[in-house]
Amino acid sequence: MTYTALIAGGGIAGTAVAIALRKAGIDAVVHEAYDTTADNVGAFLTLAVNALDALQAIDLDMGEVGFDTPRITITSGSGRRLGELPYGTGAPGGLVSRTVKRADLYRFLREQAVSRGVRIEYGKRLVDATSTGGGVAARFADGSVAEADLLIGADGLRSRTREIIDPAAPGARYAGLLNTGGYARGVPAAGESGMMHAIFGKRCFFAYIVHPDGEVWWAANPAQAAELTPAEVAAITSEEWRTRLSELFRRDHGPALDIIAATDEIFAGWNTYDVPTVPLWHRDRMIIIGDAAHATAPSIGQGAAMAIEDAVVLAKCLRDGPDPESAFTAYERARRERVERVVEQGNRTGGWKALSPLARVPRDVIMSLGMRHLARTGNDPSRWIYEHRLDWDEPAWSASHR
Ligand SMILES: Cc1cc2nc3c(=O)[nH]c(=O)nc-3n(C[C@H](O)[C@H](O)[C@H](O)COP(=O)(O)OP(=O)(O)OC[C@H]3O[C@@H](n4cnc5c(N)ncnc54)[C@H](O)[C@@H]3O)c2cc1C
Repeated sequence: MTYTALIAGGGIAGTAVAIALRKAGIDAVVHEAYDTTADNVGAFLTLAVNALDALQAIDLDMGEVGFDTPRITITSGSGRRLGELPYGTGAPGGLVSRTVKRADLYRFLREQAVSRGVRIEYGKRLVDATSTGGGVAARFADGSVAEADLLIGADGLRSRTREIIDPAAPGARYAGLLNTGGYARGVPAAGESGMMHAIFGKRCFFAYIVHPDGEVWWAANPAQAAELTPAEVAAITSEEWRTRLSELFRRDHGPALDIIAATDEIFAGWNTYDVPTVPLWHRDRMIIIGDAAHATAPSIGQGAAMAIEDAVVLAKCLRDGPDPESAFTAYERARRERVERVVEQGNRTGGWKALSPLARVPRDVIMSLGMRHLARTGNDPSRWIYEHRLDWDEPAWSASHR
């Protein structure tokens, strides 16, 4: 069947689902709250192989955007190498995980959407939506109204669509960690490009990767028990971060201190959240996808991947289902178990970063044993995340009813 869709949110899930719907023959208009297209300038993320597989299903190839990240190494703050493994085992067709600046990824997806005929309207913050007999009427903060057969809420962690579908829906859960990072130049000790280095330091987690041009992209996750307000986080200056991080990594081995010293501007930072279980993903002709439905802590590097997978699966269900309500039910059946398992794993990984100094000793031992087991058996416990495959041509209907 064919419909018209109104998408709230022009981030990763919103643009990906618009592209997927277009491929399925469904017209979609993206309504993005912000006026500009410069999103979260500064941060970067890694698209694991399952994200690239999902992009491939809708004919998207990252091309020159970002750079390959084939391996990850894990060390402790004392400098002990806990293990090294592929960044995503079981990759199909030679896919290699890719690290990309967030702003470049958003730009890439929006350009691809527009080149496929998707309309993106900026300055359109969804404030309310109501079911009309056979569709949805959405109201925006600028007073305008738009109607379509479907409303897809891809409006992220603080989703308004989630609240419209279910005013009692749970919100974001604070994970006890801050996020910051930056870009450094001239740090030869950082090593070769392509390896993601994860360092479980004595007092703080640190990760870095070297771009092929030599720039070091890094992130740190200081534990922060009491949640700060967004204004408090935004007020932390680059110099305050430098002082604080230099103290946190003072007793660790590895290049963290050199990298921090060689960074001109350290990001103001973000709180870390997830959204574990939202009981209602859809009501009438409205549905939520991506972070709006199941945000995962950044620790597991899968939030964008899950958003892209969602987009492909939802478009396939709408393409093949007899009506939107049945398509939404099939979509939820196909997605809920996987995404909630990923959120749970992200929460556990994040918890490992926020441990007290005493608890870090057994953590390192457990990680080391786990890595040795992995090296011996090749049995990566995250394999089920990475080797997920999406085939555009496989009928969603029969797949969802298997
Ligand atoms: C520090 C950090 C590191 C991360 N690292 C990784 C990683 O390595 N790998 C990975 O896969 N994931 C990573 N993630 C997670 C990933 O960024 C998110 O899961 C992903 O952005 C979710 O996409 P989304 O489209 O659902 O939400 P978003 O990308 O947040 O997009 C939501 C969009 O909706 C818009 N919007 C909000 N409200 C409204 C409204 N009312 N009306 C209209 N528009 C609205 C917003 O402006 C935004 O453009 C990381 C996240 C963080 C914070």
